[in-house]
Amino acid sequence: MTGPVRTRYAPSPTGDPHIGNIRSALFSWAFARAQGGQFILRIEDTDRNRLVETSVEAIMESLRWLGIDWDEGPDVGGPHAPYFQSERLPLYQKMAQTLIDEGKAYRCFCTAERLDLMRAAQAAAKKPPGYDGLCRALPHAAAEARAASERFVVRFAMKREGATTLHDLVRGDVVFENALQDDFVMLKSDGYPTYHLGVVVDDTDMEITHAIRGDEWISSAPKHIQLYEALGWDPPQWAHLPLILGPDHKKLSKRSGDTAVLDYRAKGYLPEALCSFLALLGWSLDASTSVVTREELAEKFSLERVVPNPAVFDIERLDFLNGHYIRAMSEDGWVDTIATWADAGLPPHIPRPIDRGILSAAAPLLRERITRLDEIAPSIEFLFGFEAPEYLPELLTEKIGGGHEHATQVLDAALLALDSLGGDGWDVEAIKAAVFGLEPLLGAKPRKFVPVLYVAIMAKPAGIPLFESMAILGRERTLQRLRTARAKAG
Ligand code: GLU
Repeated sequence: MTGPVRTRYAPSPTGDPHIGNIRSALFSWAFARAQGGQFILRIEDTDRNRLVETSVEAIMESLRWLGIDWDEGPDVGGPHAPYFQSERLPLYQKMAQTLIDEGKAYRCFCTAERLDLMRAAQAAAKKPPGYDGLCRALPHAAAEARAASERFVVRFAMKREGATTLHDLVRGDVVFENALQDDFVMLKSDGYPTYHLGVVVDDTDMEITHAIRGDEWISSAPKHIQLYEALGWDPPQWAHLPLILGPDHKKLSKRSGDTAVLDYRAKGYLPEALCSFLALLGWSLDASTSVVTREELAEKFSLERVVPNPAVFDIERLDFLNGHYIRAMSEDGWVDTIATWADAGLPPHIPRPIDRGILSAAAPLLRERITRLDEIAPSIEFLFGFEAPEYLPELLTEKIGGGHEHATQVLDAALLALDSLGGDGWDVEAIKAAVFGLEPLLGAKPRKFVPVLYVAIMAKPAGIPLFESMAILGRERTLQRLRTARAKAG
């Protein structure tokens, strides 16, 4: 290899990219960056039935959000444009024709009905599925003649004897028996290539040196290796990334966390946290590092430290990382973040722009309590408006235990104690002392009676720190909310 390292992310635009899939992008990008190479985005849109209009934008948005930049691609262009496979059809068709002319591929005229019957017969006979090679035996001239009037696909004539060996940078050598291989379709009847032909032609044309992709593609490797041989081209080096398993150790599914990257953004995960999380799904910097930045990845990523055995997706780790990055934010950055999420999440009756003074006051309280940014708005909604948000009286009495009598006792006592703090004495320490001072009077531990006050103030039995919240609300609003609660409790 003489030129620079070139890697690619080659998603099919069949929906918003999922977490599992974007890890391939992150690893490909990190490898290119660490090697001082180039990273290419190519859209593999050859399956016309599965196209989803909005996918390409979602793919680029997901990458941008994670800070994965590309040197060549559909939007920025580059020396190997176009970067949409659907705009490169003549290239694939030419290669298919070359292979047909050389007898390494053939036209197949089998109808869908025949193929169905063939599969059913194979299943009944407990034989492995695969094309039976009927059209492989057609003489070239006969196939040529039929092609003028019949629909056909082009199949690749796989070697039948021996074995095909993949030299994988992660897995080492993997041997595939040729007898178990199938004459796969490389060009469909609509003139579009299948994945196999598209990927081989484009990885070559785009001078990809390292094809880094998920383990689910490893069974395609013998097809690709034989295609390269037939075309007389040098293949890239392959690296198949370990599968990602859910916490149940089954293949990661939508339910176990494999949802769209942009859903993670919507839930309030930080891109830094997700990057760090994904980076360690199958790779490690060393034996002990549990948080890696994007910059470290771009500098130190290596394929040697990718492990072949499956990685386990653990959402608690992601939550931990998100908390870590939240606490690492600068003070101003944190208040700005709160402002954005408050603006998006608070109900419309709260005036915009959201009161910056309240947000700044709440900022330190939120920072300690929050794992995801979508918790911000519901945590601070009660700080706006005179009364607490609506809640049912049962919340005060039954839901937090203690019943009607307990609630009224607590509220009466709290009103008395807090009312005696004058306007001047209204600060966190004094409020705290007054509330904790109720313990002997009520004959109960604070954890028994404080939830009643939480409901009165926030309309829920727990939340950001209570005394600080009362201090932010001020004396008047606090006392009013306690009175309202007292009235509700009966
Ligand atoms: N188009 C394939 C996908 O959707 C690309 C696989 C590869 O990277 O070769 O993942």
